[in-house]
Amino acid sequence: MRLVLATANPDKAAEIAAILGGHELVPRPADVPDVDETGDTLEENARLKARALAAATGEPAVADDTGLEVDALGGEPGVRSARYAGEGASYADNVRALLRALDGVGDRRARFRTVAVVAFPDGGEVLADGAVHGSITTEPRGSGGFGYDPVFVPDEGDGRTFAEMTPAEKHAVSHRGRAFRALAARLASR
Ligand code: IMP
Repeated sequence: MRLVLATANPDKAAEIAAILGGHELVPRPADVPDVDETGDTLEENARLKARALAAATGEPAVADDTGLEVDALGGEPGVRSARYAGEGASYADNVRALLRALDGVGDRRARFRTVAVVAFPDGGEVLADGAVHGSITTEPRGSGGFGYDPVFVPDEGDGRTFAEMTPAEKHAVSHRGRAFRALAARLASR
């Protein structure tokens, strides 16, 4: 299936393309603006982005929204993960803010959660989600991946952070890997 991809983030686009290999992914046309993530949940934001893009292009569109939910912070930064350290914050700013918020905190459990939505121009949709449980380190480690990867150690791994893994190792257990594999399965059985 040909799917227009909502994200303009090259890190995420590369991960999604690797997982949805059987589908033709086309970038969001330059004249279609990005949608403000005004929803209160990952589901709402993913749906907002996919629906807007399907309406603008007349083609099926795929969007996702991801949050890092930290138990000791009551689930924060969650839907605010991209702007945890403020509007326009860099990945490094957000990581620093997270480590500061968890300074001296013993319970470092967290999970990444992704919701992925395909919206069809006729109003139909296919939705899937995926999560990976793990913990937040006390210092960043590794140079791969993006975002909070240098401070997230998945429970199912060998103690390395996502940023210390190869992309294939990360995809095998990651929130986005799981959400998009589930999405691909649902698209195939539709
Ligand atoms: P988005 O809504 O999917 O763009 O994700 C929001 C924020 O969560 C991003 O700006 C990143 O900081 C973080 N994030 C999303 N996916 C990942 C990931 O796979 N690893 C680490 N951080 C991520």
